[in-house]
Amino acid sequence: MTDSHQQQHQNFETLAIHAGQAADAQTGAVVTPIYQVSTYKQDGVGGLRGGYEYSRSANPTRTALEENLAALEGGRRGLAFASGLAAEDCLLRTVLVPGDHVVIPNDAYGGTFRLFAKVAERWGVQWSVADTSDPTAVREQIRPNTKVIWVETPSNPLLGITDIAVIADIARHAGAKLVVDNTFASPYLQQPLALGADVVVHSTTKYMGGHSDVVGGALIAADAGLGEELAFHQNAMGAVAGPFDAWLVMRGIKTLAVRMDRHSENATKVAEMLRSHPKVAQVLYPGLPEHAGYDIAVKQMKAFGGMVSFRIQGGEEAAVEVCNRAKLFTLGESLGGVESLIEHPGRMTHASAAGSALEVPSDLVRLSVGIESADDLLADLRQALGA
Ligand SMILES: *Cc1c(COP(=O)(O)O)cnc(C)c1O
Repeated sequence: MTDSHQQQHQNFETLAIHAGQAADAQTGAVVTPIYQVSTYKQDGVGGLRGGYEYSRSANPTRTALEENLAALEGGRRGLAFASGLAAEDCLLRTVLVPGDHVVIPNDAYGGTFRLFAKVAERWGVQWSVADTSDPTAVREQIRPNTKVIWVETPSNPLLGITDIAVIADIARHAGAKLVVDNTFASPYLQQPLALGADVVVHSTTKYMGGHSDVVGGALIAADAGLGEELAFHQNAMGAVAGPFDAWLVMRGIKTLAVRMDRHSENATKVAEMLRSHPKVAQVLYPGLPEHAGYDIAVKQMKAFGGMVSFRIQGGEEAAVEVCNRAKLFTLGESLGGVESLIEHPGRMTHASAAGSALEVPSDLVRLSVGIESADDLLADLRQALGA
């Protein structure tokens, strides 16, 4: 707490490496150790040495990550979970009760949609869908019992951009909380709490971890009171990040700023090449001036990130063929790692949205542009597209 307070004036790159990461008090180890432990010796009943009693409630490695997350998003409390969806589940069961209503984006992450449509709904939570890039569409979905507006920007897989400050205003007037899934941007490129959001959600599996070697999630609350309620539910529900997973995410975060700069540079080059390619019908990248959300992206993001989607001439079969022909771009789900990935959302990540309001175009290809040589990435895409 005092650590992050003293560090408030420091810049992002410094906080990423130092916030919550003081050298180990006992050994001087520069890197936070992996406290692979479940319980802690007490000096007499109730005499806790470092405030730790059981690792579901708190673990020193996880604490280091949680303090770091709070500092990077500019929140009062950070919490680390076993996965992004575990974080979302904890959030929705903390802020919603049966009968409450949530507005979710019409191109939400498929797993987020499934959590509301197939799980939360069974427990009496109502939801409706809006194109959150259109403030009027969001306002139209507000009901007297709306408690949460959920926003993902840039969105997955269509890379839509939502004006966080505008939706924060709508949420405030409706007496609802604004939740922003900041997975695609990361706190280096975008800081939703500063724009008025109440809670930030992360799949730390993606850019925060950054190396495709860990599954994790996070919640960061702007308000200390809500942070405390979330921490209560984190412990009560139990889907915490284990110490090794927390350590891997922390290790990833130290290079987040340099990775995001390179992801953004490479993605811009890829988007520009695709835009001029005869077999490509449309490129979806918020860094292109013709993108509908470009002006808002310029206003609220530092750069435009590593995700690029495009629609191809020739429909679904052509899209699937490009995915199959790519060599350097690995065919696979997930995103945000140093290596480039390619996928067909309609048949892969977003297959569960088929037939719903969140169904994605069948000619869509999604790229997670990595930090390899841009020239090599462009060459691979050209050959996959067939010259
Ligand atoms: C991956 C992802 C999630 C879910 O996170 P998991 O770590 O897979 O549980 C949520 N939101 C977005 C935008 C994602 O990309």
